[in-house]
Amino acid sequence: NENLILQSEKLKLVGELAAGVAHEIRNPMTVISGYVQMMNENPNSPYYEYTKLIQSETERIELILSEFLVLSKPQPNQFIPINLVEALTEVANFFQYELQQKSITVNISNEYSHMTILGNKNQIKQVFINLFKNAIEAISDGGIITVEVCKDEKDIYISIVDTGCGISPQVLDRIFEPFYTTKTAGTGLGMVIINKIIQDHNGTIKINSQLNVGTEILLSFPVLMEN
Ligand code: ADP
Ligand code: MG
Repeated sequence: NENLILQSEKLKLVGELAAGVAHEIRNPMTVISGYVQMMNENPNSPYYEYTKLIQSETERIELILSEFLVLSKPQPNQFIPINLVEALTEVANFFQYELQQKSITVNISNEYSHMTILGNKNQIKQVFINLFKNAIEAISDGGIITVEVCKDEKDIYISIVDTGCGISPQVLDRIFEPFYTTKTAGTGLGMVIINKIIQDHNGTIKINSQLNVGTEILLSFPVLMEN
């Protein structure tokens, strides 16, 4: 359908334009945050509270810009075999500080430690980063994140279970909506990014959650012949 093609071309153009704008905003943002950081060095300054606020808000803008740019950047389709347990362990180590702060234990099962999928490594790690971040943010103090990898004839599965606050059906309905967040400092882009990357890898994502009990995120990817 010609109309649909025109529409998707238009969307693509808007996306590229938005990405360009986001990129351009980044440069002046770097200057602003540099100077604000300098102004922040003196806690006795009468403007200390204001500069602190400016700093945290510029950090927020930078986070939104970087997440937005992940979404809009066209990704080269250079897929390589990625060892899943290895990538998951690397990401878990990356959150070491936060995990310790909140007394969260991470268990990554080693049963399928040889299992690989074909993918873009940075993007697959981005998915795990966003999922770990959400799991950690869902746990207030003390909890467990359990990660399992397994497979059947057709698919490879990754299950990430947290003992956090859980997701209500109302939130679950909107979880893939851009900028939808229930957090004061959230961007609402984490799940959007995950969804896009999973789609680009011919995978699926399922969410099982129970309020005040926890959440399971189940990813699946097509199996690789050599597994
Ligand atoms: P953000 O984390 O910036 O809010 P996300 O797209 O990552 O944006 O998530 C959207 C919303 O989904 C979150 O605000 C939260 O309400 C909910 N959510 C996602 N993952 C979890 C989880 N593991 N436990 C509880 N709630 C979650
Ligand atoms: Mg998030």
